Amino acid sequence: MELIYKINVKGTVQGVGFRPFVYNLAKKHRISGYVLNNTLGVEIKAQGKASNLDSFKYELKDQAPPQSNISSIESQKLANQRENFSDFRIKFSSRSDNKNTQISPELNVCHDCQQELFDPDDRRYLYPFINCTNCGPRFTITKNIPYDRNFTTMDEFEMCSLCSNEYNDPDDRRFHAQPDSCFECGPQLFLYDCSENILARSKGPASTEQLFIKMSDFLQKGAIISIKSNGGFHLACNALDEEAVLKLRGKKYRYDKALALMFPDLTSIKKHCHINSDEEELLTSYTRPIVLLKKKLDTNIADSVAPENNYLGAMLPYNPIQLLLFKYFPQPLVMTSGNICGEPIIYKNGNAISKLSQIADYHCLHNRKIHVSCDDSVYRVFRGENYPIRRSRGFAPRALSIGKKLERPVLACGAERKNTFAVAKGDQVWLSQHIGDLENLAVLNSFETSIEHFLEVFDVQPEVIAHDLHPDYLSTKYARNYDDEGIPNVAIQHHHAHAVACMVENGLDEPVIAFVMDGTGAGADGTIWGGEILIVEHGSFNRIAHLEHVRMPGGKSSIYNPWEMAVSYLYEVYGSDLKNLELPHLKRDGELELVLKMLENNLNTPITSSCGRLFDAVSALTNIRCEINYEGQAAIELENSISGQSKAAYNMHLADNDEGFVIKWDKLIESIVTDIQQGAASGSIALKFHNSLANVFLKSALRIRSTTKLNKIVLSGGVFMNMYLLDRIERLLRENDFDVYWHTKVPTNDGGIPLGQVMIADSKIRG
Ligand code: ZN
Ligand code: ZN
Ligand code: FE
Repeated sequence: MELIYKINVKGTVQGVGFRPFVYNLAKKHRISGYVLNNTLGVEIKAQGKASNLDSFKYELKDQAPPQSNISSIESQKLANQRENFSDFRIKFSSRSDNKNTQISPELNVCHDCQQELFDPDDRRYLYPFINCTNCGPRFTITKNIPYDRNFTTMDEFEMCSLCSNEYNDPDDRRFHAQPDSCFECGPQLFLYDCSENILARSKGPASTEQLFIKMSDFLQKGAIISIKSNGGFHLACNALDEEAVLKLRGKKYRYDKALALMFPDLTSIKKHCHINSDEEELLTSYTRPIVLLKKKLDTNIADSVAPENNYLGAMLPYNPIQLLLFKYFPQPLVMTSGNICGEPIIYKNGNAISKLSQIADYHCLHNRKIHVSCDDSVYRVFRGENYPIRRSRGFAPRALSIGKKLERPVLACGAERKNTFAVAKGDQVWLSQHIGDLENLAVLNSFETSIEHFLEVFDVQPEVIAHDLHPDYLSTKYARNYDDEGIPNVAIQHHHAHAVACMVENGLDEPVIAFVMDGTGAGADGTIWGGEILIVEHGSFNRIAHLEHVRMPGGKSSIYNPWEMAVSYLYEVYGSDLKNLELPHLKRDGELELVLKMLENNLNTPITSSCGRLFDAVSALTNIRCEINYEGQAAIELENSISGQSKAAYNMHLADNDEGFVIKWDKLIESIVTDIQQGAASGSIALKFHNSLANVFLKSALRIRSTTKLNKIVLSGGVFMNMYLLDRIERLLRENDFDVYWHTKVPTNDGGIPLGQVMIADSKIRG
């Protein structure tokens, strides 16, 4: 006798080849019935023998496609509903009112599609838009859900009969592959020069080959080409060509910050970078992020790709256009985001021509529209696990599970720099792709449109708006707009949010010690925080310790002038006598006097406990970096200058205060000055400085454990992008039997903030 089950599968199950997988599984186990996509996920009716149904249900979970991510499977036996299915079918999507499905992130070209792409006998030989149910664009082309062709930007292309046959054949790899297309019916690639003349166009294999040969030729001659990718444009040039890289930097007004590279294959990466098996796994995963890898000394990658930096940002090609490009130009390419100065990545053809022509010599465009822009992700590997720096393409908008049900739907607006936001309901948080630094209208527009899109596709009607405590952040101002609609908003202290983000992703729900080492964030007492040790619960925190205050001469401008911060620290130790110290690089004509005057008269010198500023000061003191061209530069170069491996360190001590204690740095500054005066190398000072911080953090942790009995420590904040410090402190704490947690799912920098904001807002409204 046959039984019949109704099975609902939720999670990332659309656009990842799930229905064909179910179809084949059903055939294997002689199951009849149907499978369909609905707004809740995937619905299955399965009729068959009990034993067959058992294996079917088991393998449904156990052998699900690698790109899928099942959050739940509900299976219900239907008693008196014998429908007597004669076969198993894939039905068309049904739309119900309660949307609760996921949108898959972008998927790297699969093995089968790669084979076909380079098979001269295949009808998609050299087709720049080849894809199937297991691979291709997803998030960036999706206008709404369910994930069906008419809700994607592929709705403009009518399938030819061959594509249509594949699309409708359950036995075909392209069954319901929404972006399915071919030379006959799909999008085309166009190569333009700066005067908008079409130089080549991909109508078939021969013309495509010509197009890529031309591009390769231009790259060889040092040209910069803007190339449309999944989530926006890249600017590409030959990474071995110093002159081309410098030209790109000059035109992009991007002077020192490392540029991302795309390598033809793993062999090529291994030639230029040190790489371990975990890094290899991440690089080749379907998410294809940029992974920061240690540069080899003998690499011939142009020096100006990553000056004063021991690391290179490396990625592998992830779409067919890039694979084709490397077939004709098999050398590493600079592949940096196609944007101009502080603006979001450009993703529309018109903007590429009008705006990127200032930078690029040629443009490689196509007519498949990008609906949602999405930058490349940037990751590191730490202790064998992913350590996100920027969670974007390949990861967003995959939902993060938070392990408990939220009281009400939340919109969390994030912070200001490296902005991301999140929408959340039930036990799911959808963290957005990287939006950028919310400092101009263009980024603000992108922030607002992306929020609207997320609220729509994930069907979230927020009943609480979470935002940063800083009143001037554009994300805070945006949140306040909801006041008019009567939706309550909750202001959340920046470092509390950092800490809780790290707790949530590690499943911690009890009080923990949080080391939040950061650049800046509005503090609860009106000063600028950033070197905080907090005792944290989801809904509240207690500041138990912080780095000793220092003043920021000129306020925000001192962030761009680390030498001014160095002067400020010196002033606290030596007073005006600092002028007599032998530190010639800090004695700038007239300028030093100006900074001193501000400090002496307490003029525009807000106080901060920021750890980032201490890094800046030490970087300037040692003359490694006195002025910066990008955020975090002084700290990054200080870390990269570390030489030697000793445990040598300076002395830093703790002093009691009303809250608990402060971490003093006066002896540290004195010792560094002494070392400089005795001619110590900056690399060894950098090493000792990092060790000192790790030591004093351990000392702090031990002291807090002795009074609170807390043993769990979370590490968060932008400073922990510093891998030397992270490695050292994690090791020291672990050796002293602390349970140490760090970020593996969202960035330790401000890109991870909204996850914490969601959880804190929820706790606060529960009261
Ligand atoms: Zn494929
Ligand atoms: Zn076709
Ligand atoms: Fe921060």
